[in-house]
Amino acid sequence: MAVNSMTKWKCKDVETPGEPGRIRKRLFVDLENEDKTSLEQSPPSKKPKLDADQAEQEPLLRENLGRNWYLVIAEFQGETKVHLRVYEEREEDETLYPTKKGISLDLEKWKKLTELYSEEIDDAIERHEAEMPVSYKKHLGENFYVTVETGFSLVNVRKWWMPPNEKDIVPTRRGAALTFDEWEELKCLIPRVEEKIGDQIRSVEYCENSESHQNQMGSLQCPRCNPNEYTKNTY
Ligand SMILES: [Zn+2]
Repeated sequence: MAVNSMTKWKCKDVETPGEPGRIRKRLFVDLENEDKTSLEQSPPSKKPKLDADQAEQEPLLRENLGRNWYLVIAEFQGETKVHLRVYEEREEDETLYPTKKGISLDLEKWKKLTELYSEEIDDAIERHEAEMPVSYKKHLGENFYVTVETGFSLVNVRKWWMPPNEKDIVPTRRGAALTFDEWEELKCLIPRVEEKIGDQIRSVEYCENSESHQNQMGSLQCPRCNPNEYTKNTY
């Protein structure tokens, strides 16, 4: 494994522009690879492949984001996904169990959220906190979007859908509406995610960059890039 080529990330406190007293956490690429403390190593799991039930009990990673929201990496049917999910405590022994509330992202969606759009999301948050109008919406693939909207102090990662005979997609209940603090915490967990599945994330190619998408028809016919229209454009 080419460890040296791994991107190292670290969190740093920075002042919010125009608000000297207000400190935010920002994620930086750590080129010098100095900050080992944010990358505390844990031994790789030697466990055999987990089945569906065990995957929830023994995720590769489970870290709290705030409230009862967790970032979880789990394998399911051979595919690694990053979940943003609400966990609750069992009364009998206070162990945590996953609820249906939340969303699971394949690695392309996760990579878009945390690499492609992370800075734009931060900018949208800053505009929101400066009480400027914000209507940020970016496509993560299929009908998954991340939004930041005026009036809601939330980073909303959500699945949308196109009701029959409608022209516009609408949000579904499947999603994670994270507070800005939880979003900051999510960013601070990126190094831990990198530690666990960095190789897999690096091998993900964005669908729109693939060779079949180099002409417009390629993305129009793609269920990931154009989920509600692609069938109409198939010749
Ligand atoms: Zn595509």
